[in-house]
Amino acid sequence: MSLESFFNPESVAIVGASRQKGKVGHEILTNMIGAGYEGRIFPVNPKADAIEGLECYPSLKAIGSKPDLVIVIVPAKAVPAVMRECAKIGVKSVIIITAGFKEVGEEGKELENQVLRIARQAGIRVIGPNCLGAIAPANKVNASFGGDLPSAGAIAYLSQSGALLAAILDMANASGIGFSKLVSIGNKTDIDELDLIKALGPDPDTKVIAGYLESISDGNAFVREAEQISHQKPILLMKSGATEAGAQAASSHTGSLAGSETAYECMFERAGIIRCESIKQQFDYAQAFANQPLPAGPRVAVITNAGGPGIMAADAIEQQGLTFAKLDDTTVAKLSAALPAAANVHNPIDVLGDALADRYELALEAALDDPNVDAVLVLLTPQAMTESAGTARVTVKMARQKPSKPILACFLGAAKVKEGVGILREGKIPQYDSPESAVGTIKAMADYARWRSRPKRVVKLFGVNRRKVENIVERHLRQSVYEIGEAESKEMLEAYGFVTPKGSIATTAEQAANIAQQLGYPVVLKIWSPDILHKSDVGGVKVGLKGEQQVRDAFDLMMYRIPKKLPEANILGVLVQEMCGGGKEVILGMNRDPHFGPLMMFGMGGIMVEVLKDVSFYPAPLTADEAKQMLLNTKTYQMLKGVRGEEGVDIEAVAEGLQRLSQLVTEFPQIQEMDINPYVVGPEGTTPIAVDARISVQQV
Ligand code: ADP
Ligand code: MG
Repeated sequence: MSLESFFNPESVAIVGASRQKGKVGHEILTNMIGAGYEGRIFPVNPKADAIEGLECYPSLKAIGSKPDLVIVIVPAKAVPAVMRECAKIGVKSVIIITAGFKEVGEEGKELENQVLRIARQAGIRVIGPNCLGAIAPANKVNASFGGDLPSAGAIAYLSQSGALLAAILDMANASGIGFSKLVSIGNKTDIDELDLIKALGPDPDTKVIAGYLESISDGNAFVREAEQISHQKPILLMKSGATEAGAQAASSHTGSLAGSETAYECMFERAGIIRCESIKQQFDYAQAFANQPLPAGPRVAVITNAGGPGIMAADAIEQQGLTFAKLDDTTVAKLSAALPAAANVHNPIDVLGDALADRYELALEAALDDPNVDAVLVLLTPQAMTESAGTARVTVKMARQKPSKPILACFLGAAKVKEGVGILREGKIPQYDSPESAVGTIKAMADYARWRSRPKRVVKLFGVNRRKVENIVERHLRQSVYEIGEAESKEMLEAYGFVTPKGSIATTAEQAANIAQQLGYPVVLKIWSPDILHKSDVGGVKVGLKGEQQVRDAFDLMMYRIPKKLPEANILGVLVQEMCGGGKEVILGMNRDPHFGPLMMFGMGGIMVEVLKDVSFYPAPLTADEAKQMLLNTKTYQMLKGVRGEEGVDIEAVAEGLQRLSQLVTEFPQIQEMDINPYVVGPEGTTPIAVDARISVQQV
């Protein structure tokens, strides 16, 4: 879908144009004129003959030709009539600035629905209502009341908050940040964030898509599209507010660990979307992404004329998980030969307080030529001799001569560095107000570059017994049973290649002792009832039973105590199970997000899972790398690897378990939620065991 008429209209009608200064209907008109718009503008207002020297029309029809874009500012109640008029004369693109629609309640919502119906019937695309408008600087289009036309640049911005967009415009205009397009999506009754990224993805004028969103209408479609686009250009998002998904029932203990925030977090990660915490951070990032190449790796070289900022940068590099570049011997030799003896010729390269622009130039050249350097940060403090403007000039020059590595600058100070900062901006070198924000930006670039260069996702498919699972799931659904008990949950897991502990059900102490004898000691006894979800909570699990007497006693005690505690529970007996010793307990799980589908979960298992919340999530289906990464994203991973000489567990086997589970939940969308807790994993070469499992299903 093309949004060309919004950003590059041949003619524009402004319905509700006003003579009165300060009114939105006046602002938009003067903004369009002030932007130098080259097409025709038709103000529509039955009460005026001319506004700002332009002939005014009593109605859209009276114009006599079809405007390419119509901007509507009339009161909400009058908007449907304007829409009908648009439909009649064949207008295809409308921006409704007017507020007073769904954001004010039922009546407004009805009005908005009416507008949407007319638009859909007539094939009209609508931005808004309740928005600030749209801006395309290169085309001299300022169809907004947000402020002056910003300069043209490579950043596209879409905002769900009009007020925020006004603030961004003000800030950008003050610091000379340029945009390709800016759109305030308002109530997004028709055009939403998905339409916009679809249009901006292939837009040659847009190198970076940035946005502020409070809700995402179709989360799944959005991240799918974003994932495609992220291969071409970065998407930087600020996302605030929870979604309807946040209201989902937290039906089981593990499911409740994944909120909608988590879902967004990991879907964004999967789609390569770069999440920003503030407008400042977003523009810190956007300027670098729009104007500098991506770093090939994480190794940063710092050039400075003062020790303090150099140390601050070094600390930030360390903290952010980037690498402090180790300069090549030839670079060190070059620098030693050229710089004064007191200079530091290792990273951070200290060109000293009395450095003029020439020292920066040769240090920059050396750093950019160094094969061990992926990005360069130029720090400057305005000391007595410092040439801030000259240094800015040589930085711009070097960036042009050696355009393959990113250069970021941090000229600290205010009045004394002002001219230099202006030259940097002009020369497209991003400038930061602290070493930390510059380093944070390099980190975002390095992460994104890594995302882009990751191998193509290949999801391994295991040979499984799908039919068996299908039978179990369908039988439950036919009988309207939505919780699959432990025994059949484990059968399903076995069908997908999991190993579960051996064991059988006993209904007498005698039987329990016999089963234990066959299994071999030690054994575990567990209460067996479809009505008891958390067995240990009611004293229904006894581990480490070492002989016949202990088994008989444990059996008798359970069968005496639990029915007293839970008289309603249907107790079928006691499960006598082999004991899995020596392993570590982890949890593998899945929670199906209503917007994003299955989210896999991994974390520390056993009863501590809810307390420690050391869990990680990622959308299924998982690749081997993604499964591995899920493990790495937890602290549990350190424990699994083995702490202080203690033997580690078979990490690959755990990752494989996650992949198998991911296949199961991908092939069975009926599975809403499940967990294996504990999944007992032992040393390398041993097979992990799914000791306990539960699965809940739903008709889909
Ligand atoms: P529930 O989660 O319903 O309380 P589980 O079957 O998960 O019941 O058992 C509770 C805990 O007992 C497990 O987390 C594990 O620590 C231990 N446990 C249970 N079965 C075994 C077994 N077969 N081998 C080793 N430990 C076990
Ligand atoms: Mg359990």
